[in-house]
Amino acid sequence: MRINILHLYPDLLNLYGDKGNIECLRKRLLWRGIDARVITHTCDDRDFDLSDTDIVFVGGGSDREQKIVCTRLLEHKRQLKEYVEDNGVLTAVCGGYQLLGRYYKLEDETIEGLGILDIYTEQGKGRLIGNIVLEADFINQKIVGFENHGGRTYIGSHKPLGKVLYGNGNADNAGAEGVLYKNVVATYLHGPLFPKNPKLCDYVLTNALKRKYPEFKELSPLDDELENIANGYIVNRFLNK
Ligand code: GLN
Repeated sequence: MRINILHLYPDLLNLYGDKGNIECLRKRLLWRGIDARVITHTCDDRDFDLSDTDIVFVGGGSDREQKIVCTRLLEHKRQLKEYVEDNGVLTAVCGGYQLLGRYYKLEDETIEGLGILDIYTEQGKGRLIGNIVLEADFINQKIVGFENHGGRTYIGSHKPLGKVLYGNGNADNAGAEGVLYKNVVATYLHGPLFPKNPKLCDYVLTNALKRKYPEFKELSPLDDELENIANGYIVNRFLNK
């Protein structure tokens, strides 16, 4: 078995080392004897092939970087939309999450998004920065992370990734964070999202494996003792204050 991971614009969207998530996806496959190939698509590249892609990853970036990426990304709007509607697996973090929506409105201009999700983002007063803990109903582990965004995202009738137990989420005290749509995981949680949340990583990997290999049942367990202790430590630190 082999999973092909397409990393979009790592040259611009790599705040807080979002790239480490690719390493985590790759390693958790290799440790299970499943081959993994990473293809990077930068701003200097023209085309990418989604017919052979099993996971797409888009990281976060500053408003300036998002503006540059958005024009490139829009050239692939139809292709990406069709991929998502066809249950393609995609994870988007922060700036990448915002670009999946209809638009990101800044003080003096509006960045057009891909319109893959029926959501929109508007820049608010100040930034929402800090640790965050979520309850997710599709995995049996709380999701922990760090958020830092000026945009507030309004997700309408979309299902959120999780309920916020600590932190802000999609907007000021939103109560909900991210979006879960088909096989899309979109979130404001930066940096080591997958290393801190091994169950979420395995959820994404399982979706990709099931889509590619319909007979695939489940991933073999890994020794996640340290990862689970780290995750639990953050949960305790912020929920039992
Ligand atoms: N530039 C966006 C914002 O501030 C996203 C930032 C990010 O990716 N952290 O909302």
